[in-house]
Amino acid sequence: MPKRTCLGCQAIKEKKDLVRIALGEGKKLTLDPQRKITGRGTYLCQEKGKIKSSCLNKAIAKKAFNHAFKKEIKITKIHPAPSSHHHGSC
Ligand SMILES: [Zn+2]
Repeated sequence: MPKRTCLGCQAIKEKKDLVRIALGEGKKLTLDPQRKITGRGTYLCQEKGKIKSSCLNKAIAKKAFNHAFKKEIKITKIHPAPSSHHHGSC
């Protein structure tokens, strides 16, 4: 199984125990569980399908996202994965 490192706690885990985060539209940190977003991605531990908040907080505190994506990133929150279903009702 391929292993990845959590950006927050540095634990090395199998991909299934981590969730991918990539830069989506507008350079926003976006959950990418299906790994659809191209380009750089990073990983954080997940618990029951959600990012483990302690790992997220560690990664933010260390400014680890800036290193992971090699650029300055303003983190306010992690955006949910864009829905693949579009209901045209706006
Ligand atoms: Zn972690």
